[in-house]
Amino acid sequence: MAAKNKKLIVGNWKMNLNVHEASLYVHTLSKLVKTHRTVEVVLAPTMLALQSLSLQVNYRQFKLAAQNIYWRDHGAFTGEISAQQLSGVVQYAIIGHSERRHIFHESDKDTRNKVQAAIRNGISPILCVGETAAERALNETNDVLHDQLVGGLANVTSEELAQITIAYEPVWAIGTGNNATPHDVRQAEKAIRSQISHLYGKTAAEAVNVLYGGSVNKDSATDYLMIPGVDGLLIGGASLDAEAFSDIIEKAHNAASVVVKQ
Ligand code: PEP
Repeated sequence: MAAKNKKLIVGNWKMNLNVHEASLYVHTLSKLVKTHRTVEVVLAPTMLALQSLSLQVNYRQFKLAAQNIYWRDHGAFTGEISAQQLSGVVQYAIIGHSERRHIFHESDKDTRNKVQAAIRNGISPILCVGETAAERALNETNDVLHDQLVGGLANVTSEELAQITIAYEPVWAIGTGNNATPHDVRQAEKAIRSQISHLYGKTAAEAVNVLYGGSVNKDSATDYLMIPGVDGLLIGGASLDAEAFSDIIEKAHNAASVVVKQ
């Protein structure tokens, strides 16, 4: 398939940077990052910083994402934050990140409910899927992708699918320095689109945004960005280094520009 001429770069800060540090970091980043129509940059800071950053950022330069949401809109759910409460503050929500699935035991049913909650509240879900090292060793990658996509997207209509981004994040590659090869990513991206095609048809499968995430740094970013079906990157560790992150954004712009000329 032809690559699209816009890349999505998402920085997942995980449980790093307090409110003050997050504000300083965004200030530094805003000086380094050029705004390009070819790249959408999304920052996912701690929940605590979202409100203040929503007033600080220039939305033409950065969009905001929640790293997680709860799926009920309100009620007796101590400690949770709903998509309804985040509505108007964030444009995206990361859902089903492997750390949520594996450390906090979130199921496909949880991710499905969260995808629905995000859409219901005008937030675009970034649904993370990917196999563990053990599943990969057993050659189960495609089965895992199938189950996580079918599970996470159940009840999503074709119209709603247009708001969803799928991030292929092999668990064994996240935060480990063992990044997947471009060949691995291409195979997984094809499997994801094939599953989406099965569920929603070929046009929807070509249109859906597919990202790669897993130990991407400024040296490896271009290799992934140049894969035809890869529409961007989900970046953890390297997104905490302003120079490296802005470098990756520039590389995304270059990759999108190459695609435009094809
Ligand atoms: C992530 O948190 O989604 C991620 C990809 O992390 P890292 O880039 O550090 O592997």
